[in-house]
Amino acid sequence: MYKDPKPKKITMDEWSVRFKNIDNKTIKKFVYYNNHDWGLYLQPPATFMVYGTRELRRLRFDNSLAALRMWGFVFNESERLFRARQSGKKIVATMGDLGTVSIIVMAFPDCIPFYPECIWWTPFFNESTVLLDLASELGAPEAACFSRAALAAFVKKAYFPKPDYIFASTGATCDDYSCIMQSIEHLGYDFMWLEVPLRRSPAKHVSMDSLVKTKNGFEYPRRFEEYLIKEYEKVWQKMVEITGIDDQNLLMVSIKKANQVRTLVEKIKRTTYQAGNAPFPALELMTIEFGNLYGYADMDEWIRILEMIYETIVERTKKNIGIISEDAIPIAWVNPTADPYLLDYVERIGLRVVDTEYVINQALVEIDEQIEPFRALAQSFMQASLIGSTAQRISSINKAMRTGKIEGILITNMLGGSHCAMETKLMERLLKDKPVLAIDVPAPFGITEQIKTRLQAFAEVLHERRK
Ligand code: SF4
Repeated sequence: MYKDPKPKKITMDEWSVRFKNIDNKTIKKFVYYNNHDWGLYLQPPATFMVYGTRELRRLRFDNSLAALRMWGFVFNESERLFRARQSGKKIVATMGDLGTVSIIVMAFPDCIPFYPECIWWTPFFNESTVLLDLASELGAPEAACFSRAALAAFVKKAYFPKPDYIFASTGATCDDYSCIMQSIEHLGYDFMWLEVPLRRSPAKHVSMDSLVKTKNGFEYPRRFEEYLIKEYEKVWQKMVEITGIDDQNLLMVSIKKANQVRTLVEKIKRTTYQAGNAPFPALELMTIEFGNLYGYADMDEWIRILEMIYETIVERTKKNIGIISEDAIPIAWVNPTADPYLLDYVERIGLRVVDTEYVINQALVEIDEQIEPFRALAQSFMQASLIGSTAQRISSINKAMRTGKIEGILITNMLGGSHCAMETKLMERLLKDKPVLAIDVPAPFGITEQIKTRLQAFAEVLHERRK
């Protein structure tokens, strides 16, 4: 069995050399959909580069087997979805809610949910503007968020199979992506729309009985929860119609599985962020966090991967071994960056990510297993990042800043992303005199020396403040 070397970040070429030390038994051990005939996925990053993921040449990766396994699995997702279709599974696109409707879909045997908007990373990983250019031609131009790549992917039919059905959440979710979803519907796809309420405090005269308070202190009128429950029941009924199966015990199983992932990821984040030396890189950690949405289309294997990653991190933490400089400055990262390179880059210049607000809080919170499942899902979703105020969204970061856990905040804007255009200035105001750098993430090939200089200057200022 392959033994991890001393932890560090290595290049794609270094992984190719190192991969020769991995024996066949290990390679054959890891499979998706439990299929040992065609489910192998452990490959060096260079394999995916050959298939078009060109940015891998510029990135550096964690050198553990657990991280290699994770990347192999994540980059294999497109193949996995087509295999799922070939082997008779149903492919269901769940859009806009990021992490809750997928749990209902996963409750049905042989039904695989996926989030097409996650394809927004593809133009960056592929260093290609093909999808973005086509999206522009289709009416979603440069002024819209990079998630417009999903529209083009639906037209190209090469990135994922044609979904058997699509659930799309709109309302208090993202405006940009709501427009993209409408454009996808106009292509002729079969849709069900769900509406998501805005989380706002009720009027003063509302009785306390009709209020719900979340664990993190947010309040909302109970009728919002009742409304969401009805929306989720609609999803359930549609899935019953599609599959002919109606067993709500399966929903409990699906919720337990989602909680297993959420608990593991919480442990991974906590252990990593609290460690004296950073035991795992920020890019890998963002990829782990986004796995909460749907386990990259195979929740069971994703859980096994997370367990292995957690073991690796615990072992490194016990030995106090890190993968970046020991005196790296802890920062919080707000909004997921469309270009993965930035997460790698900040570690090269002496910053360390120890807190995040990636707009997916709803996929991170534990779901209550003691109450009726649709209510439990509704309650977990009501803690979503984008459905409340900006102050709520950054409340935990503000707290961490006050306690000295983080020393700076980096906000990566999406050009055109509605929450960026409107929210960044508000956040800066709410974070008052704290060191904040907000940058627009440019289209592929757009990370200029000017952007790098701004990041370096930010890192220098944070280092200076320590003196
Ligand atoms: S604007 Fe923000 S929330 Fe909307 S799709 Fe883009 S990144 Fe996601």
